Amino acid sequence: MSQACHRTGHSNKGQGKSRNGTRKLRPVQISNFLNLFLHNTCGLCDRATAGALCSACQSQVLADRGQKWLTETRGRVFAWGSYDGSVKRAIAQLKYGKQAQIGDWLGLQLAEAWIAHGLSAAYPRLIAVPIPLAPDRRKQRGYNQAEHIARAFCQRVGYPLQPQGLLRVRETQAQYQLSGRDRVQNLTQAFALSPRWQRSLPQDSIVLVDDIYTTGATIQAATEVLRRSGIRVWGCAAVARAGNGSFARDGAG
Ligand SMILES: [Zn+2]
Repeated sequence: MSQACHRTGHSNKGQGKSRNGTRKLRPVQISNFLNLFLHNTCGLCDRATAGALCSACQSQVLADRGQKWLTETRGRVFAWGSYDGSVKRAIAQLKYGKQAQIGDWLGLQLAEAWIAHGLSAAYPRLIAVPIPLAPDRRKQRGYNQAEHIARAFCQRVGYPLQPQGLLRVRETQAQYQLSGRDRVQNLTQAFALSPRWQRSLPQDSIVLVDDIYTTGATIQAATEVLRRSGIRVWGCAAVARAGNGSFARDGAG
């Protein structure tokens, strides 16, 4: 049901009311309503499908997935696959193509890999916090893709989700001009702890959830903000890990 809502992006507020106050459905609303029961279209190829992606695209994304990846070098990071091929296209559609339901599908894949890797058994009590978007960007996009991933991940793994654990208080710019350590510093100022957690700290460790893990600067900054407040951080679970070269370029220890 939520898939169709994300797809249409419509709110029904104030629409279709006749003078005597009864609601009339416009043709577009009727067609959206029927879509709930009939089909959706694939987020990658537009074929009719019941899910976020058609079976051909699902197979393609799974084939392009690459290796799952767990590192403890610079804080723990678990990634479901590599940021390449149709995985990259799926994430692009999730972020820029208004295909929020792809995030739900990717979040489920991340969860399955997490469980298969023994991480849910080893760490049964974590709280998931998606990396937040700046308010303007969220408004423009209509949703936070990391929140979609995190929600589906939590539904499968059973962790509580705290979408407002971290807030993005400002947008950061011109990151590329900065060296690794300055980049983290710059980003640290972009995050703030939720008022709820300022009043009462969570008892369990946090797993940060994001779509792509690139230089690690965002995760490091978010981790610093949480740890400074006395909150324990397990690390990060991301759908895809982008290019190895970025580690050398980022350079922070
Ligand atoms: Zn497809």
